[in-house]
Amino acid sequence: MSASIFMKRMALIMLSVWVLPALAAEPSLLLTHLTVVDGTGMPAKPDMTIAIEGGHISAIYPDGSRAAPKGARVEDLSGRYVIPGLIDAHVHLTGAEPDFAHYLPHLQALLRGGVTAVRDMAGDDRLIGYLADEANSDALASPDTYYVALMAGPTFFAEDERVQEASAGEQLGFAPWMQAISPSTNIPLAVAEAKGTGATALKLYANLPASLVTKIAAEAHRQGLRVWTHATIFPATPGDAVAAGADTISHSPYLVWAAAPKVPDDYRVRAMGDFTHIRPDAPQILALFKAMTQHGTILDATLLPFEQEAEHDPKKVGAGIMPWSYAVTQLAHRQGVLVDVGTDSSGLPDNAHGPDLKALPLVHTEMALLVEHCGFTPLEAIHAATQVSAAAMGQSSQRGTISPGKRADLVVLMADPTRDIHNTGKIAFVIKNGRIYTNDGG
Ligand SMILES: [Zn+2]
Repeated sequence: MSASIFMKRMALIMLSVWVLPALAAEPSLLLTHLTVVDGTGMPAKPDMTIAIEGGHISAIYPDGSRAAPKGARVEDLSGRYVIPGLIDAHVHLTGAEPDFAHYLPHLQALLRGGVTAVRDMAGDDRLIGYLADEANSDALASPDTYYVALMAGPTFFAEDERVQEASAGEQLGFAPWMQAISPSTNIPLAVAEAKGTGATALKLYANLPASLVTKIAAEAHRQGLRVWTHATIFPATPGDAVAAGADTISHSPYLVWAAAPKVPDDYRVRAMGDFTHIRPDAPQILALFKAMTQHGTILDATLLPFEQEAEHDPKKVGAGIMPWSYAVTQLAHRQGVLVDVGTDSSGLPDNAHGPDLKALPLVHTEMALLVEHCGFTPLEAIHAATQVSAAAMGQSSQRGTISPGKRADLVVLMADPTRDIHNTGKIAFVIKNGRIYTNDGG
């Protein structure tokens, strides 16, 4: 290499060292004249500017109170509202189709529908892990994705077709993301294998005694994994799961088993609770809520899938399931239990051919159920789908509110969502990680 080329290269290197930090210090995108609903549950603030820099929110301030930095792209959003990116805290993104490309239009539909992150609650982690890596690095137009490795008692694996499908090619009950746990299992090793899948949490699903739930949860937390359980891990009760330190507990209707004289042996009858005789405010359920607030356990209510089942296949659920589930969710909320927003679905409604890619994501419908049936204000439902769902996903420090330092995950709306919760569906555009995604393909 000649001396002059060497010098030029050195100059380039020095230039990049000097120039890059200087550029990075300037906000690259300013959203002005917005009404901000920040996700914390605080009232909306009109006439605000949000500065976005390098994928994060760098500042929020009243319009005109600071000069716009030179070179910043300024978007005047007069008359618009902004909420944090919505988080569906209970999806199952993947099904039997193993080709990742199959899921791309679906993921894109979720993102354009305002969903900037999802918590995937079980599937084939070989596929989900790949999609999550691509989504979380913005290589795909997709919500960011956090997922689980599932554990259950050995008998569950013989009974459930879904786990057989999701661990195809592996010995049933021994795939690191679908493990059968018995009293003889080496729990630290099993948890380490689960962690190796890239999962954020263990999902404890079925057929586990309280003693094993306690051991697994303690070891998961020791290894830095979260613990997301079903309320019905029979024979473990909802109270056993909370006492073991579950970070989230899924499905409002299953809380009925906290007050049942005994829990069934078979997890498959879990939706057949005695909703006629057990009151949502039974002392055992109030005690469960108290334990949940003390442990910080979030209720993953998932009302929508049960509402649909009660309407289309009522024999599969106990009589009176929906009024009971709405009442228990309202009571949990009143008692100070944090409630997230999850749909226990692909995230989109189905049409005759599968997920309807033109439809609004179901997270909007679940939020509306909280308002229309469970006594939430629209502000509280937005809080549930943002700050609380981010906490459920283990992402509180990064997401869930519009505040400096958080990811620039935002949904810009054409109408006031605090007046009518259905206005969360009137989307102008979505920002994830500072990138703008519009509905016309931009
Ligand atoms: Zn689920």
